[in-house]
Amino acid sequence: MTTTADIIIIGAGIYGASLAFHLTQRGLKPVVLERNFIASGATGRSCGVLRMHYDLETESRLAWESFRYFRNWDEIVGGDCGFTRTGFLRIVRSEHEEYLKANVVMHQGIGIPSLLVNAADVYRLAPALNIDDFKVAAYEPESGYADPSTATTTLMQAARERGAKLVQECQVTAVTTSSGKVAGVETSKGTYSAPVVINSAGPWAAEIGRMVDLDLPVNTWQHDSMLIRRPSEVGPTLPTTIDDINAMYFRPETGGLTLVGLQDYNPIGESPDGDTDHAKPGFVDRASDRICHRIPDMVHGSLHSAHGGYDGITPDQRAILGRAGPEGFYLVCGFSGTGFKIAPAVGACMTELIVDGQAKTVDISPFKFSRFSDGELLKGEHDYGNFWS
Ligand SMILES: Cc1cc2nc3c(=O)[nH]c(=O)nc-3n(C[C@H](O)[C@H](O)[C@H](O)COP(=O)(O)OP(=O)(O)OC[C@H]3O[C@@H](n4cnc5c(N)ncnc54)[C@H](O)[C@@H]3O)c2cc1C
Repeated sequence: MTTTADIIIIGAGIYGASLAFHLTQRGLKPVVLERNFIASGATGRSCGVLRMHYDLETESRLAWESFRYFRNWDEIVGGDCGFTRTGFLRIVRSEHEEYLKANVVMHQGIGIPSLLVNAADVYRLAPALNIDDFKVAAYEPESGYADPSTATTTLMQAARERGAKLVQECQVTAVTTSSGKVAGVETSKGTYSAPVVINSAGPWAAEIGRMVDLDLPVNTWQHDSMLIRRPSEVGPTLPTTIDDINAMYFRPETGGLTLVGLQDYNPIGESPDGDTDHAKPGFVDRASDRICHRIPDMVHGSLHSAHGGYDGITPDQRAILGRAGPEGFYLVCGFSGTGFKIAPAVGACMTELIVDGQAKTVDISPFKFSRFSDGELLKGEHDYGNFWS
Protein backbone atom coordinates (compact mmCIF):
# COMPACT_ATOMS: atom_id res chain seq x y z
CA MET A 1 0.00 0.00 0.00
CA THR A 2 1.26 3.51 -0.83
CA THR A 3 0.70 6.47 1.48
CA THR A 4 0.41 9.82 -0.28
CA ALA A 5 1.61 13.13 1.20
CA ASP A 6 2.13 16.67 -0.10
CA ILE A 7 5.81 16.57 0.86
CA ILE A 8 8.15 13.96 2.35
CA ILE A 9 10.69 15.17 4.92
CA ILE A 10 13.50 12.74 5.73
CA GLY A 11 14.64 13.10 9.36
CA ALA A 12 12.96 14.41 12.51
CA GLY A 13 15.74 16.58 13.90
CA ILE A 14 15.31 20.35 14.41
CA TYR A 15 15.25 20.78 10.60
CA GLY A 16 12.57 18.16 9.92
CA ALA A 17 10.47 19.79 12.64
CA SER A 18 11.08 23.37 11.49
CA LEU A 19 10.24 22.43 7.89
CA ALA A 20 7.04 20.65 8.98
CA PHE A 21 6.08 23.65 11.13
CA HIS A 22 6.50 26.18 8.33
CA LEU A 23 5.05 24.02 5.53
CA THR A 24 1.87 23.39 7.54
CA GLN A 25 1.56 27.14 8.10
CA ARG A 26 1.10 27.33 4.33
CA GLY A 27 -1.61 24.65 4.34
CA LEU A 28 0.58 21.73 3.21
CA LYS A 29 0.45 18.31 4.87
CA PRO A 30 3.97 16.84 4.99
CA VAL A 31 4.97 13.47 6.35
CA VAL A 32 8.18 13.34 8.40
CA LEU A 33 9.94 9.96 8.23
CA GLU A 34 12.40 9.24 11.03
CA ARG A 35 14.44 6.04 11.19
CA ASN A 36 14.84 6.29 14.97
CA PHE A 37 12.92 8.77 17.14
CA ILE A 38 12.48 12.54 17.18
CA ALA A 39 15.69 14.50 17.98
CA SER A 40 17.72 11.29 18.23
CA GLY A 41 20.49 12.59 15.91
CA ALA A 42 22.65 15.75 16.08
CA THR A 43 19.78 17.73 17.56
CA GLY A 44 19.51 15.62 20.70
CA ARG A 45 23.25 16.08 21.36
CA SER A 46 23.36 19.78 20.56
CA CYS A 47 24.64 22.28 23.13
CA GLY A 48 21.91 24.72 22.07
CA VAL A 49 24.08 27.86 21.97
CA LEU A 50 22.24 30.85 20.46
CA ARG A 51 24.39 33.72 19.20
CA MET A 52 24.26 36.04 16.22
CA HIS A 53 28.02 36.55 15.95
CA TYR A 54 29.10 35.11 12.59
CA ASP A 55 31.63 36.48 10.11
CA LEU A 56 29.21 35.76 7.23
CA GLU A 57 26.36 38.28 7.09
CA THR A 58 23.75 35.81 5.75
CA GLU A 59 24.32 33.52 8.73
CA SER A 60 23.96 36.43 11.16
CA ARG A 61 20.70 37.37 9.44
CA LEU A 62 19.41 33.77 9.73
CA ALA A 63 20.41 33.63 13.40
CA TRP A 64 18.81 37.01 14.12
CA GLU A 65 15.53 36.07 12.43
CA SER A 66 15.57 32.74 14.32
CA PHE A 67 16.23 34.52 17.60
CA ARG A 68 12.80 36.18 17.29
CA TYR A 69 11.30 32.68 17.54
CA PHE A 70 13.46 31.53 20.46
CA ARG A 71 12.57 34.62 22.49
CA ASN A 72 8.84 34.39 21.69
CA TRP A 73 8.46 30.61 21.42
CA ASP A 74 5.14 30.30 23.21
CA GLU A 75 3.56 32.98 21.03
CA ILE A 76 4.99 31.79 17.68
CA VAL A 77 5.26 28.01 18.13
CA GLY A 78 3.53 27.14 21.41
CA GLY A 79 5.14 25.81 24.58
CA ASP A 80 8.66 26.43 25.76
CA CYS A 81 12.03 26.01 24.02
CA GLY A 82 14.08 26.44 27.19
CA PHE A 83 15.52 29.78 26.11
CA THR A 84 17.87 31.09 28.80
CA ARG A 85 19.44 34.51 28.46
CA THR A 86 23.06 34.52 29.61
CA GLY A 87 24.68 37.14 27.40
CA PHE A 88 27.28 36.02 24.86
CA LEU A 89 30.98 36.90 24.58
CA ARG A 90 33.19 36.31 21.56
CA ILE A 91 36.91 36.42 22.27
CA VAL A 92 39.22 36.19 19.24
CA ARG A 93 42.95 35.84 18.72
CA SER A 94 44.86 39.15 18.47
CA GLU A 95 45.29 38.85 14.66
CA HIS A 96 41.48 38.87 14.31
CA GLU A 97 40.81 41.92 16.49
CA GLU A 98 40.14 44.22 13.54
CA TYR A 99 37.82 41.61 11.98
CA LEU A 100 35.93 41.37 15.25
CA LYS A 101 35.39 45.14 15.25
CA ALA A 102 34.18 45.06 11.64
CA ASN A 103 31.87 42.14 12.37
CA VAL A 104 30.31 43.96 15.33
CA VAL A 105 29.59 46.90 13.01
CA MET A 106 28.06 44.47 10.49
CA HIS A 107 25.87 42.95 13.24
CA GLN A 108 24.76 46.36 14.46
CA GLY A 109 23.82 47.22 10.86
CA ILE A 110 21.45 44.23 10.84
CA GLY A 111 19.93 45.44 14.12
CA ILE A 112 21.50 42.78 16.33
CA PRO A 113 22.24 43.97 19.88
CA SER A 114 26.03 43.61 19.75
CA LEU A 115 28.70 45.73 21.42
CA LEU A 116 32.43 46.03 21.27
CA VAL A 117 33.73 45.77 24.85
CA ASN A 118 37.22 45.91 26.31
CA ALA A 119 38.87 43.50 28.73
CA ALA A 120 37.93 45.63 31.76
CA ASP A 121 34.27 45.54 30.66
CA VAL A 122 34.53 41.74 30.41
CA TYR A 123 35.91 41.63 33.94
CA ARG A 124 32.91 43.66 35.17
CA LEU A 125 30.53 41.30 33.36
CA ALA A 126 32.24 38.11 34.49
CA PRO A 127 34.90 38.63 37.20
CA ALA A 128 35.80 34.92 37.16
CA LEU A 129 37.31 35.23 33.66
CA ASN A 130 41.03 35.60 33.09
CA ILE A 131 41.31 38.74 30.90
CA ASP A 132 45.10 38.80 30.48
CA ASP A 133 45.32 37.62 26.87
CA PHE A 134 42.86 39.83 24.94
CA LYS A 135 42.08 43.53 24.61
CA VAL A 136 38.59 43.55 23.11
CA ALA A 137 35.61 41.21 22.76
CA ALA A 138 32.16 41.25 21.19
CA TYR A 139 29.23 41.14 23.59
CA GLU A 140 25.61 40.24 22.82
CA PRO A 141 23.59 40.98 25.96
CA GLU A 142 20.44 39.21 24.72
CA SER A 143 21.93 35.89 23.59
CA GLY A 144 22.13 32.58 25.46
CA TYR A 145 21.01 29.04 24.82
CA ALA A 146 17.89 26.90 24.39
CA ASP A 147 16.94 23.24 24.66
CA PRO A 148 17.16 21.62 21.20
CA SER A 149 15.06 18.53 22.00
CA THR A 150 12.21 20.58 23.46
CA ALA A 151 12.37 23.07 20.58
CA THR A 152 12.10 20.17 18.10
CA THR A 153 9.24 18.48 19.93
CA THR A 154 7.18 21.65 20.22
CA LEU A 155 7.71 22.58 16.55
CA MET A 156 6.63 19.08 15.54
CA GLN A 157 3.64 19.16 17.87
CA ALA A 158 2.44 22.43 16.31
CA ALA A 159 2.94 20.94 12.82
CA ARG A 160 1.01 17.79 13.75
CA GLU A 161 -1.88 19.87 15.05
CA ARG A 162 -2.08 21.39 11.54
CA GLY A 163 -2.01 18.03 9.75
CA ALA A 164 1.65 16.95 9.49
CA LYS A 165 2.37 13.28 10.17
CA LEU A 166 5.43 11.99 12.04
CA VAL A 167 6.37 8.35 11.44
CA GLN A 168 9.13 7.16 13.77
CA GLU A 169 11.23 3.98 13.46
CA CYS A 170 10.77 4.34 9.70
CA GLN A 171 14.00 4.16 7.70
CA VAL A 172 14.04 5.60 4.18
CA THR A 173 15.81 3.02 1.99
CA ALA A 174 15.31 4.52 -1.50
CA VAL A 175 14.12 7.71 -3.19
CA THR A 176 12.06 6.91 -6.27
CA THR A 177 11.90 9.05 -9.42
CA SER A 178 9.92 9.08 -12.63
CA SER A 179 10.92 11.01 -15.79
CA GLY A 180 13.53 13.02 -13.86
CA LYS A 181 11.08 13.97 -11.10
CA VAL A 182 10.83 12.80 -7.51
CA ALA A 183 8.02 10.25 -7.04
CA GLY A 184 8.41 9.27 -3.39
CA VAL A 185 10.40 6.99 -1.10
CA GLU A 186 10.63 3.35 -0.08
CA THR A 187 10.91 2.76 3.66
CA SER A 188 11.05 0.01 6.26
CA LYS A 189 7.35 0.76 6.80
CA GLY A 190 6.18 0.81 3.18
CA THR A 191 5.99 3.19 0.22
CA TYR A 192 5.26 6.91 0.37
CA SER A 193 4.55 9.08 -2.64
CA ALA A 194 4.92 12.85 -2.96
CA PRO A 195 6.16 15.30 -5.62
CA VAL A 196 8.65 16.83 -3.16
CA VAL A 197 11.26 15.06 -0.98
CA ILE A 198 13.47 17.01 1.44
CA ASN A 199 16.78 15.61 2.62
CA SER A 200 17.17 16.83 6.21
CA ALA A 201 18.96 13.72 7.43
CA GLY A 202 21.74 15.52 9.34
CA PRO A 203 25.00 13.52 9.37
CA TRP A 204 23.29 10.84 7.24
CA ALA A 205 22.50 13.33 4.42
CA ALA A 206 25.18 12.02 2.03
CA GLU A 207 23.62 8.54 2.26
CA ILE A 208 20.25 10.00 1.21
CA GLY A 209 21.97 11.98 -1.58
CA ARG A 210 23.38 8.78 -3.05
CA MET A 211 19.80 7.50 -3.42
CA VAL A 212 19.35 10.08 -6.23
CA ASP A 213 22.97 9.84 -7.50
CA LEU A 214 23.98 13.10 -5.83
CA ASP A 215 27.48 13.15 -4.41
CA LEU A 216 26.98 15.54 -1.49
CA PRO A 217 30.10 16.95 0.17
CA VAL A 218 28.63 16.27 3.61
CA ASN A 219 31.05 14.41 5.83
CA THR A 220 30.58 13.32 9.44
CA TRP A 221 31.86 15.60 12.20
CA GLN A 222 32.30 14.17 15.69
CA HIS A 223 32.13 16.49 18.69
CA ASP A 224 32.50 15.96 22.44
CA SER A 225 31.24 18.12 25.26
CA MET A 226 31.45 17.89 29.03
CA LEU A 227 29.58 19.22 32.03
CA ILE A 228 31.44 20.32 35.11
CA ARG A 229 30.09 21.31 38.50
CA ARG A 230 30.79 25.02 38.87
CA PRO A 231 32.56 25.76 42.17
CA SER A 232 31.16 28.57 44.33
CA GLU A 233 34.32 30.67 43.72
CA VAL A 234 33.24 31.12 40.07
CA GLY A 235 29.94 32.72 41.04
CA PRO A 236 26.34 31.92 40.20
CA THR A 237 26.56 32.12 36.40
CA LEU A 238 28.71 32.91 33.35
CA PRO A 239 28.12 34.45 29.94
CA THR A 240 27.97 31.93 27.09
CA THR A 241 31.40 32.37 25.50
CA ILE A 242 33.33 31.41 22.37
CA ASP A 243 37.00 31.71 23.21
CA ASP A 244 39.11 31.34 20.06
CA ILE A 245 42.34 31.77 22.04
CA ASN A 246 41.66 28.49 23.83
CA ALA A 247 39.73 27.00 20.85
CA MET A 248 36.85 26.45 23.26
CA TYR A 249 33.28 27.47 24.02
CA PHE A 250 31.38 27.24 27.28
CA ARG A 251 28.04 28.17 28.76
CA PRO A 252 26.23 27.78 32.05
CA GLU A 253 23.79 24.89 32.44
CA THR A 254 21.05 24.43 35.00
CA GLY A 255 21.91 22.72 38.28
CA GLY A 256 25.10 24.74 38.82
CA LEU A 257 26.84 23.11 35.85
CA THR A 258 29.03 24.54 33.07
CA LEU A 259 29.10 22.97 29.60
CA VAL A 260 32.41 22.99 27.68
CA GLY A 261 33.25 22.04 24.07
CA LEU A 262 36.38 22.43 21.94
CA GLN A 263 36.87 23.82 18.44
CA ASP A 264 39.66 21.34 17.66
CA TYR A 265 40.07 17.53 17.91
CA ASN A 266 36.70 16.95 16.21
CA PRO A 267 37.36 13.93 13.95
CA ILE A 268 35.92 14.01 10.42
CA GLY A 269 34.72 10.96 8.53
CA GLU A 270 33.60 8.54 11.24
CA SER A 271 30.37 6.61 10.86
CA PRO A 272 27.45 8.77 12.11
CA ASP A 273 26.23 5.61 13.85
CA GLY A 274 29.31 5.60 16.11
CA ASP A 275 29.40 5.87 19.90
CA THR A 276 27.84 9.06 21.31
CA ASP A 277 27.70 7.89 24.92
CA HIS A 278 31.36 8.51 25.61
CA ALA A 279 33.78 11.35 24.88
CA LYS A 280 37.04 10.51 23.06
CA PRO A 281 40.13 9.70 25.13
CA GLY A 282 41.99 12.91 25.99
CA PHE A 283 38.99 15.21 25.63
CA VAL A 284 38.24 15.70 29.32
CA ASP A 285 41.89 16.52 30.14
CA ARG A 286 42.19 19.00 27.28
CA ALA A 287 38.88 20.69 28.01
CA SER A 288 39.67 20.87 31.75
CA ASP A 289 43.06 22.53 31.09
CA ARG A 290 41.51 25.11 28.80
CA ILE A 291 38.52 26.02 30.98
CA CYS A 292 40.92 26.43 33.94
CA HIS A 293 43.06 28.73 31.82
CA ARG A 294 40.10 31.02 31.09
CA ILE A 295 38.42 30.58 34.50
CA PRO A 296 41.20 29.80 37.00
CA ASP A 297 38.78 29.03 39.87
CA MET A 298 37.32 26.18 37.82
CA VAL A 299 40.22 24.20 39.22
CA HIS A 300 37.93 23.66 42.24
CA GLY A 301 35.19 22.20 40.01
CA SER A 302 34.50 18.53 39.34
CA LEU A 303 33.47 16.52 36.30
CA HIS A 304 29.77 15.76 36.01
CA SER A 305 29.69 13.90 32.65
CA ALA A 306 31.02 13.90 29.08
CA HIS A 307 29.58 12.58 25.85
CA GLY A 308 29.86 12.84 22.05
CA GLY A 309 27.65 13.63 19.06
CA TYR A 310 27.73 13.79 15.25
CA ASP A 311 26.65 16.40 12.71
CA GLY A 312 27.14 16.69 8.93
CA ILE A 313 29.97 19.02 7.89
CA THR A 314 30.77 20.56 4.48
CA PRO A 315 34.13 21.80 3.11
CA ASP A 316 33.34 25.46 3.99
CA GLN A 317 31.59 24.46 7.22
CA ARG A 318 28.33 25.98 6.01
CA ALA A 319 24.94 24.48 5.19
CA ILE A 320 23.63 23.33 1.81
CA LEU A 321 20.16 24.74 1.11
CA GLY A 322 18.10 24.50 -2.05
CA ARG A 323 17.12 22.30 -4.95
CA ALA A 324 19.44 19.69 -6.52
CA GLY A 325 19.16 16.43 -8.45
CA PRO A 326 15.75 15.31 -9.73
CA GLU A 327 12.94 17.85 -9.87
CA GLY A 328 11.28 18.08 -6.46
CA PHE A 329 14.39 17.07 -4.47
CA TYR A 330 15.61 19.60 -1.86
CA LEU A 331 18.66 19.75 0.39
CA VAL A 332 18.57 21.10 3.95
CA CYS A 333 21.77 19.65 5.36
CA GLY A 334 25.46 20.13 6.16
CA PHE A 335 24.92 22.37 9.18
CA SER A 336 28.49 21.81 10.33
CA GLY A 337 28.02 21.84 14.09
CA THR A 338 26.28 25.20 14.28
CA GLY A 339 22.81 24.58 12.81
CA PHE A 340 20.46 24.69 15.79
CA LYS A 341 20.40 28.46 16.14
CA ILE A 342 19.36 29.13 12.53
CA ALA A 343 16.75 26.35 12.17
CA PRO A 344 13.57 28.47 12.54
CA ALA A 345 14.60 30.94 9.83
CA VAL A 346 15.90 28.22 7.50
CA GLY A 347 12.57 26.38 7.82
CA ALA A 348 10.75 29.61 6.88
CA CYS A 349 13.10 30.32 3.94
CA MET A 350 12.95 26.77 2.55
CA THR A 351 9.15 26.85 2.74
CA GLU A 352 9.18 30.09 0.72
CA LEU A 353 11.53 28.52 -1.81
CA ILE A 354 9.39 25.38 -2.20
CA VAL A 355 5.98 27.10 -2.19
CA ASP A 356 6.74 30.48 -3.81
CA GLY A 357 9.86 29.66 -5.81
CA GLN A 358 12.09 32.06 -3.86
CA ALA A 359 13.08 32.72 -0.24
CA LYS A 360 12.11 36.20 0.98
CA THR A 361 12.82 36.18 4.73
CA VAL A 362 16.57 35.92 4.12
CA ASP A 363 18.36 35.36 0.79
CA ILE A 364 19.62 31.77 1.13
CA SER A 365 20.98 31.52 -2.43
CA PRO A 366 24.63 31.68 -1.21
CA PHE A 367 24.10 28.23 0.35
CA LYS A 368 23.42 26.58 -3.03
CA PHE A 369 24.84 23.11 -3.71
CA SER A 370 26.55 24.24 -6.93
CA ARG A 371 28.98 26.47 -4.99
CA PHE A 372 31.20 23.43 -4.44
CA SER A 373 31.52 22.50 -8.14
CA ASP A 374 31.80 26.21 -9.05
CA GLY A 375 34.62 26.72 -6.54
CA GLU A 376 32.64 29.43 -4.71
CA LEU A 377 33.07 28.25 -1.15
CA LEU A 378 31.54 30.60 1.40
CA LYS A 379 33.82 32.85 3.38
CA GLY A 380 33.04 35.60 5.88
CA GLU A 381 33.38 39.22 4.84
CA HIS A 382 35.86 39.58 7.73
CA ASP A 383 36.79 35.95 7.92
CA TYR A 384 38.08 34.26 11.09
CA GLY A 385 38.84 31.08 9.12
CA ASN A 386 37.17 27.73 9.78
CA PHE A 387 35.39 27.58 13.11
CA TRP A 388 36.30 23.90 13.58
CA SER A 389 39.83 22.70 13.04
C1 LIG B 1 27.55 17.74 20.06
C2 LIG B 1 26.93 18.83 19.25
C3 LIG B 1 26.82 20.12 19.77
C4 LIG B 1 26.21 21.13 19.00
N1 LIG B 1 26.07 22.37 19.55
C5 LIG B 1 25.41 23.33 18.86
C6 LIG B 1 25.17 24.60 19.44
O1 LIG B 1 25.56 24.85 20.59
N2 LIG B 1 24.48 25.52 18.72
C7 LIG B 1 24.06 25.27 17.44
O2 LIG B 1 23.47 26.17 16.84
N3 LIG B 1 24.29 24.08 16.86
C8 LIG B 1 24.93 23.11 17.54
N4 LIG B 1 25.14 21.89 16.98
C9 LIG B 1 24.69 21.67 15.61
C10 LIG B 1 23.20 21.37 15.53
O3 LIG B 1 22.81 20.61 16.64
C11 LIG B 1 22.90 20.62 14.24
O4 LIG B 1 23.40 21.38 13.14
C12 LIG B 1 21.41 20.39 14.04
O5 LIG B 1 20.85 19.80 15.19
C13 LIG B 1 21.20 19.51 12.83
O6 LIG B 1 19.85 19.17 12.78
P1 LIG B 1 19.31 18.21 11.64
O7 LIG B 1 17.85 18.17 11.79
O8 LIG B 1 19.91 18.63 10.33
O9 LIG B 1 20.00 16.79 11.93
P2 LIG B 1 19.64 15.63 12.99
O10 LIG B 1 19.22 16.16 14.29
O11 LIG B 1 20.77 14.67 12.96
O12 LIG B 1 18.36 14.96 12.33
C14 LIG B 1 18.46 14.12 11.20
C15 LIG B 1 17.56 12.92 11.45
O13 LIG B 1 17.50 12.15 10.26
C16 LIG B 1 17.29 10.82 10.64
N5 LIG B 1 17.65 9.96 9.51
C17 LIG B 1 18.88 9.76 9.00
N6 LIG B 1 18.82 8.88 7.97
C18 LIG B 1 17.51 8.52 7.82
C19 LIG B 1 16.82 7.64 6.95
N7 LIG B 1 17.45 6.93 6.00
N8 LIG B 1 15.48 7.51 7.10
C20 LIG B 1 14.81 8.22 8.06
N9 LIG B 1 15.43 9.06 8.93
C21 LIG B 1 16.77 9.22 8.80
C22 LIG B 1 18.20 10.65 11.84
O14 LIG B 1 17.83 9.56 12.67
C23 LIG B 1 18.07 12.00 12.55
O15 LIG B 1 17.13 11.96 13.61
C24 LIG B 1 25.74 20.85 17.70
C25 LIG B 1 25.84 19.56 17.19
C26 LIG B 1 26.41 18.55 17.95
C27 LIG B 1 26.49 17.16 17.37
